[in-house]
Amino acid sequence: MSINGPLGRKLNMGLIGGGQGSFIGKVHSIAACLDNRAEVVAGAFSSDPARSKASGAEYGVDARRAYGSYLEMVQEEIKLPVGKRVDFVTIATPNHTHFPIAKAFCEAGINVICDKPMTFNLKEAEELLQIVEKTGVIFALTHNYTGYPLVRQARQMVLDGKLGEIQAIRAFYIQGWLRTRLESTGQKQADWRTDPKKSGSAGCFGDIATHAYNLARFITGLQPREVSCSLKTFEPGRQLDDYGTAVIRFDGGALGTVTASQISHGRENDLWIEIDGTLGALEWHQEEPNRMIFRQNGQPHSIYTRAGGGYLSKPAADASRLPAGHPEAFFEAFANIYTSAYDAIVAKLAGTATSNSPAIYPNVADGVDGMNFIEQCVGSSRNAGAWTNMAHPACRS
Ligand code: NAD
Repeated sequence: MSINGPLGRKLNMGLIGGGQGSFIGKVHSIAACLDNRAEVVAGAFSSDPARSKASGAEYGVDARRAYGSYLEMVQEEIKLPVGKRVDFVTIATPNHTHFPIAKAFCEAGINVICDKPMTFNLKEAEELLQIVEKTGVIFALTHNYTGYPLVRQARQMVLDGKLGEIQAIRAFYIQGWLRTRLESTGQKQADWRTDPKKSGSAGCFGDIATHAYNLARFITGLQPREVSCSLKTFEPGRQLDDYGTAVIRFDGGALGTVTASQISHGRENDLWIEIDGTLGALEWHQEEPNRMIFRQNGQPHSIYTRAGGGYLSKPAADASRLPAGHPEAFFEAFANIYTSAYDAIVAKLAGTATSNSPAIYPNVADGVDGMNFIEQCVGSSRNAGAWTNMAHPACRS
């Protein structure tokens, strides 16, 4: 079959952010193109117009399409015919800019892949949900950890009832890079993440606890009911939290905890999750993503790998590219979000129904869910950890 099936061509990608010296935009550009289904053709790569143009050259983008701002980019791109203009944009800029950028592209009818947290606050997220529904654009949110094959396996095992009734969830995201006040040295990534005007109402909790929470929601499908949270700022002079724990009561009686830290010596990106059910328990660590442990009392512990030998579910098997034993990780998991979203974008552009498995990429409703989590955690923490309502109509199983 030709590239992107009925479309017969690569998708045209625009990148917002990802300029010189930035972090995740470059990761997006690699992951988005990993399967040869898209190429970067345009961008507004930086808040600084000159740097945007210089960055565009590094992505191999025609100088005329390395724009000085995202607003200029929208205006110019929609003048181009479909097939030449960007089919979608990726937003990889600091949190406070996500909403205005996403709104501008959605309203121009251009599909959006946005990094997390989706917006600056819950109000913006709810507005964005309405905009996406009204415009009908495809909107994916890069909660990239849901793209790992063994995370998809975990989800399928829960859906298939292998764990029985889910009763307890422990999710963690532990880092150590903000142990000192890195933001006072001018370090770019630390600078905006610790600034409430750019990061939002939470620091560590908005930046990484959202990933741990999303992982719990993705694997279990459980709906949150209420939360009690304590956030702390341990580094003197810092404006936002750098540590916290949330206890979540889910519908049906399950209890979950989400702990996130950016001040734990020596810890890198230690995202991990444990789930206890009445029939079995799961454990997965993103720093060792190619194995997952399943335990049942009285049975030898089972270590699942990507090899499968026929035991992996289809969503997990479909998410691997290499023979097992050749490690796959961060780029591939990101690419799995992209490839799921591409199926939807291609179907929309070609006017066909999606033929393969239902889309499992995180979407705008998951973004609202994440922003609701942040906002209720901050509210609870400011109220001495009071139990705070977390039910939200946008939360899906
Ligand atoms: P960064 O500071 O390294 O890069 C941000 C880039 O956006 C820079 O190039 C900057 O010039 C550009 N930018 C800022 N305002 C802009 C504007 N108005 N128009 C165009 N470009 C603009 O930040 P980062 O660490 O790459 O984080 C970016 C986003 O990605 C954040 O929302 C963050 O939470 C998220 N993120 C997600 C993951 C993940 O695993 N999913 C990992 C890291 C970061």
